[in-house]
Amino acid sequence: MTQVSLDPDGMSEASQRARETMARIERESAQRDQDRREGRKVGKLSHSLHEKLRSCNPQQLKRVIKLSRQYLKEHKHAPAFRDFPNRRHARVLAHVEHKNMRYCLEVHPCSKANCRKCPHGPYIYSYHRDGQYFPLKYHGSTFTRLPRKVRDAFRPIVAEYKGGIGEKGLDALKEFVNRGGTLIALGEASNLLANKLPLPVKELKHTLTRDQHYAPGTIVNLQVDTSHPMGIGSAENTFGFYINSPFFQMAARH
Ligand SMILES: [Zn+2]
Repeated sequence: MTQVSLDPDGMSEASQRARETMARIERESAQRDQDRREGRKVGKLSHSLHEKLRSCNPQQLKRVIKLSRQYLKEHKHAPAFRDFPNRRHARVLAHVEHKNMRYCLEVHPCSKANCRKCPHGPYIYSYHRDGQYFPLKYHGSTFTRLPRKVRDAFRPIVAEYKGGIGEKGLDALKEFVNRGGTLIALGEASNLLANKLPLPVKELKHTLTRDQHYAPGTIVNLQVDTSHPMGIGSAENTFGFYINSPFFQMAARH
């Protein structure tokens, strides 16, 4: 039998090296970003480009002028969608141009394992051309400050995407309960029922500040009423795992 020994020094050395590599990659990418931005706003040319222009003959300079006019024109229009760099993590639901900007309605999956809210969004981004780059601006999911053309194009898609069960679905749930059905809601869905149905419960979480209640993932003690049908078969004192869900207090029936 081979004995495997964990070498804590070796492991921490490896993770130290990994951290250093990550830091170096970040530094280099920040430097490249800075080099790229330097002087762009005030129209400064790089030293090498300046020298190259100076070495041109009149025919070449005329060609440079012609090309520059053409490229200037391109900056007056919204970039074509196919020109964008590959934003693979985003799914674009719709895009629309306005002046020299292209607005995109995007949803984003995140990298969290077992994320129950994925994909996130839809969010609005706008892109414009800056040479061969397409800087983006994030507009969140609020429409109020967007051009009318963009709002009109995105609004129906957002409404459709948000979907949910709607009034019709809620009526069907009410009908199900009225016929004697048992309805169980988990997490945020409980709020929907507490708000829309005449239930004798009061939601407490939204009355607390982050200082008073913060539990993004916590093991809690549970005291279970084992005489209640919901608690039958459970231990009176047990544990549960809680992640930021709403919680309720029994209230007078309204
Ligand atoms: Zn997610």
